[in-house]
Amino acid sequence: MKVGYVALIGRPNVGKSTLLNHILGQKIAIISDKPQTTRMSILGIKTTEKGQIIFVDNPGIHRPLHRLNKRMMNFVYSSLQTSDLTCLLIDATLKYGHGDQFVIDTLKKVTTPLFLLINKVDIVKKDKILLLIDRYKDLLEFKEIIPISALKGTNVDVLEENIYKYLPEAEKLYGDDDVSDQSLRFLMSEIIREKLLSHVRQELPFVTAVLVEEMEDRGEGKKYVKARIFVEKDSHRKIIIGRQGSLIKRIGTEARKEMEDILEAKVFLDLHVRVKEKWRDSAGVLDLIEGQ
Ligand code: GDP
Ligand code: MG
Repeated sequence: MKVGYVALIGRPNVGKSTLLNHILGQKIAIISDKPQTTRMSILGIKTTEKGQIIFVDNPGIHRPLHRLNKRMMNFVYSSLQTSDLTCLLIDATLKYGHGDQFVIDTLKKVTTPLFLLINKVDIVKKDKILLLIDRYKDLLEFKEIIPISALKGTNVDVLEENIYKYLPEAEKLYGDDDVSDQSLRFLMSEIIREKLLSHVRQELPFVTAVLVEEMEDRGEGKKYVKARIFVEKDSHRKIIIGRQGSLIKRIGTEARKEMEDILEAKVFLDLHVRVKEKWRDSAGVLDLIEGQ
């Protein structure tokens, strides 16, 4: 059996979580077009007759300003240290820039095999991909360079084939039916955050966190979920609530529908917004959210 950890690494928004979900054929990580959507490492386990690949989806590489962001980057660093292989994802629609240099510098210390995945090839011309290959090929020692589309699934099978080549022989680490290590509570909180992110702009995505405080079985296929949305200012709270509560209602309805699909139960979602100044620098709040 080939078994090992594969880190998905790259700048925010390059498609790491989309790739993880595609590979697993189900939604493990939430997706948005806003940066810094993924805040912790999330394991996605893919077991086949060849072995077991444990993908580690990570926050995007960025310069950390708040305690939250430092913790996000610590997930990245520890994933780089503990993985058997690292996949660097880049966005084929973007030119090489300053932020990419920071990513390259971060990866210079990595001693395990490294792949370059050029993502979003469904929306770029071939010559752009060739230019990127030319730009990247000498920056680091890439064992494989693979153009992919995480959204459409292009070359994802090729990627998996190649990963197996570099993984060590070992016993499986997870059961055949295990797909992720995250708790149901955490997944529920993330679903709420995803719906919220799809409706807000500017700094709101950065200053919002969601904590599921209660999840209770009410019998007869019913579940009660109590969740709190943290924001930093009262003006944020007002935006999320919306005119006469219209936005929070919409977010709640969208989240509840998806929760019902996953939990296969009727969900009563009790959603509250709370202002907690500087929660991004509060170890207490961050511990609560990470510990869900
Ligand atoms: P992450 O921050 O790296 O995890 O990126 P996400 O997976 O959240 O994706 C960021 C955005 O890019 C979302 O709007 C995705 O729908 C989009 N995206 C991801 N992969 C692809 C792809 O292969 N093709 C296209 N066209 N869009 C993609
Ligand atoms: Mg992500």
